[in-house]
Amino acid sequence: MKFHEMREKDVADALQTNVEEGLSSSFVKERRKQVGYNELAEGKKPSAILLFLGQFKDFMVLVLLAATLVSGLLGEYIDAIAIMAIVIVNAIMGFVQEQRAEKSLDALKQLSAPQVTALRDGTWTRIPSKELVPGDIVKFQSGDRIGADLRLLESNNLEIEESALTGESLPVSKMTEVLQHASPTLGDLENMAFMGTMVTRGNGIGIVTGTGMNTAMGQIAHLLQEVQILQTPLQHRLEQLGKILITAALGLTILVVLLGILQGQELFTMFVAGVSLAVAAIPEGLPAIVTVGLSLGVQRMIRKNAIVRKLPAVETLGCASVICSDKTGTLTQNKMTVTKVWSGGKTWGVTGTGYDPVGQFEDGDVIVSPSSNKALQQLMTFGMLCNHAALVEREDHLVLDGDPTEGALLVAGMKAGLSKESLLKQFIIEREFPFDSTRKMMSMVVRDANGQRFVVTKGAPDVLINKSESILWDNKKARLSAEKKVDVQNAIVELASQALRTIAIAFKPLGPSTLIVTEEEAEKELVFIGLQGMIDPPRPEVKQAVKECSQAGIKTVMITGDHVITAKAIAKQLGILKEKDLVLDGEALNDMSVEELKDIVEDVSVFARVSPEHKLKIVKALQQNGHIVAMTGDGVNDAPAIKTADIGIAMGITGTDVTKEASSLILLDDNFATIKSAIKEGRNIYENIRKFIRYLLASNVGEILVMLFAMLLGLPLPLVAIQILWVNLVTDGLPAMALGMDQPEGDVMKRKPRHPKEGVFSRGLGWKVISRGFLIGIATLAAFMVVYNRNPEDLAYAQTIAFATLVLAQLIHVFDCRSEHSIFSRNPFENKYLVWAVISSIALMLVVIYVPALQPIFHTLPIIATDWLLIIGMSALPTFLLAGSFFASKKK
Ligand code: ATP
Repeated sequence: MKFHEMREKDVADALQTNVEEGLSSSFVKERRKQVGYNELAEGKKPSAILLFLGQFKDFMVLVLLAATLVSGLLGEYIDAIAIMAIVIVNAIMGFVQEQRAEKSLDALKQLSAPQVTALRDGTWTRIPSKELVPGDIVKFQSGDRIGADLRLLESNNLEIEESALTGESLPVSKMTEVLQHASPTLGDLENMAFMGTMVTRGNGIGIVTGTGMNTAMGQIAHLLQEVQILQTPLQHRLEQLGKILITAALGLTILVVLLGILQGQELFTMFVAGVSLAVAAIPEGLPAIVTVGLSLGVQRMIRKNAIVRKLPAVETLGCASVICSDKTGTLTQNKMTVTKVWSGGKTWGVTGTGYDPVGQFEDGDVIVSPSSNKALQQLMTFGMLCNHAALVEREDHLVLDGDPTEGALLVAGMKAGLSKESLLKQFIIEREFPFDSTRKMMSMVVRDANGQRFVVTKGAPDVLINKSESILWDNKKARLSAEKKVDVQNAIVELASQALRTIAIAFKPLGPSTLIVTEEEAEKELVFIGLQGMIDPPRPEVKQAVKECSQAGIKTVMITGDHVITAKAIAKQLGILKEKDLVLDGEALNDMSVEELKDIVEDVSVFARVSPEHKLKIVKALQQNGHIVAMTGDGVNDAPAIKTADIGIAMGITGTDVTKEASSLILLDDNFATIKSAIKEGRNIYENIRKFIRYLLASNVGEILVMLFAMLLGLPLPLVAIQILWVNLVTDGLPAMALGMDQPEGDVMKRKPRHPKEGVFSRGLGWKVISRGFLIGIATLAAFMVVYNRNPEDLAYAQTIAFATLVLAQLIHVFDCRSEHSIFSRNPFENKYLVWAVISSIALMLVVIYVPALQPIFHTLPIIATDWLLIIGMSALPTFLLAGSFFASKKK
């Protein structure tokens, strides 16, 4: 059907919908049965079996399988089957971990799924875009992504960027008139909007004409690239490190094998032991465990209302050194209430709190009726008229639908005895120029019942005053002289210094046929009416969060479109603006290059009256000074700054789709304190990854060294192949995962931000890995030698002792890995997962040693009680020896 050629009413009829009421829920259900969900068909994912088989593609695992096969052929059935079983269990673990990582990434995608505003059963409701069906009526505004193909019904200065479909990056102006095109291209269809395109300006309403694969986007869906999952810098570094570690592990293993053979060990035994050692010592599981560690952290962040959209952000968060935060709604509650109004040199107080429309106007202590002053009445009337907010009844109380600033003006109007319904009967709105934060104004062209036409404008007072020629003074229109201007400016400062956000209202009478096409034409030669000042209380938790950030070496900078003085007052309350800090405004920023800003930006903690474009300058200046910048944003124009920032943060509630898509982190509650929690979690995730890298590598070093030293000393093999594999499976897997769930150390927010280029082994980690690994190797070997020398005939018993010592030494060492300082600085029982992981690993070890049926498989013998003293002593030695030396060095 060619919807662009049809009149709006015919489109509605064809789609069996009602423009006033929208679709009914029951009809939507019926229609969905026919057309399905509004989704693009996704490419096929690899099946679970393929993913499972993928676990075996590792080269060393293949060698091990080959070796197992050979030992099977040579008659070593038990060994072959046991090794095979362990390899399979290992693969299952790897598979489960990968699935888990995949699932949490999917869940993330779901959470950031786009929402749209649709008219259902007569009310505008937010629904997931996926639920749209043809015939739905939807409304959208600048910053939204269009959810389905639409025929436009209403278009206010609407511009849409359609590059996703047409490749044309400049936005296209839209209209609603019927089009007649013989063979139109998508770009010609100016009365249609298409799924996946972005509203860059204005607002509009449309009827859904196509959904899912039945849209222009659906037709090219197969061309869309699969979303790439980005690797984090750490993952990238680990991949490179992995190659070095593999070479080292292989080199040492070959050395062990050669030495063994030279000493006359059986060739085949040495071969299988060597391959097992290689499988155990090569940290091939590290990248997967890092991914799991990252995704576990990401899930914890979701619980704290922060959604990570790009995995690398998790790491960058820990490096953040500056947070640039919007004021309204992020640092403050965005629950606005008008408390003061000013007009013609007089100030009135307004009582009442929140959006409850109960309150009075006061002149000093005297209650007055706003209708007694014509200018005041007009101030309240136009504030209510040039306004999209509405109060709607929900569960027997009134809630605000719309922008809080407008909500405050609406409620103030209601307190003045006005009603939006009756105003809409008195005035017909001919045209609208929507608010944008660069202009800091919005305007409407209206016509009253007598046919008189006006422009009504509301916006930032310091902007509006410069667009005004006259002013209402003593209820009469007067020239806006320099003196009067000073009066107005004083009034603005007076309200702002009480931390009030100020909005000015102005108007302009129009002739019956004066044509107003552009905003410039509308917003000039205005008559200034007055000011409304509203409180926006700071969020109570922010002050503490700012303090914690400061302790963590992170500076908080307020960026706001609001008045300098209002911004200062609130920044002081929150502890953002300190004694010697500077405040810069948008005008000053205009005259400054990034280079110039760079020189003073360290001292600035408040940027006020800025436009979104300035944010980019601020990010760049900070980055040039070496900062890692987190920057918040909500509007469509914030997207460039958010993209440029190291961590772009979008608002979950007030944020537009455009900013959300540009961001790497979304705050579900728009709250600054959530950024702090996310940074803390980001630091913790990184520390946890360091913890298990440290644990796994030290274990591997220990495993290799015990074998190497034994060969160098001309001793028999201290561990057999199956034991090495078992140690690798049980002691490495569970405890390492539990380390990924560890709580942050007490001082994690008292350290300076980590340098983004910091290597994996910095801050002494490399030394810890080698020293602990070395000692674990020595201790295991010592235990082996003591028992072996006692009775050289009973090699299997000495091997069991070595096996138990190695396992226990690692399980004690894991507690040491929890701290950057010392094992004694943390309560070992704090991490329940770890305690359980260790207990189960110990239990499994005992099973292997004491269950008679398993003894031939694992080449073990039951250990006598007194030997446990030796094992426990030796296995505790590496950790406690070094912890002791730590204390000794502290005491000095
Ligand atoms: P932040 O960047 O902290 O969120 P903000 O919300 O105050 O700050 P903007 O939304 O860009 O920034 O608003 C800038 C100024 O424009 C405000 O100080 C106010 O004076 C004016 N303003 C805000 N909302 C409206 C609106 N709906 N209609 C008219 N003027 C508005």
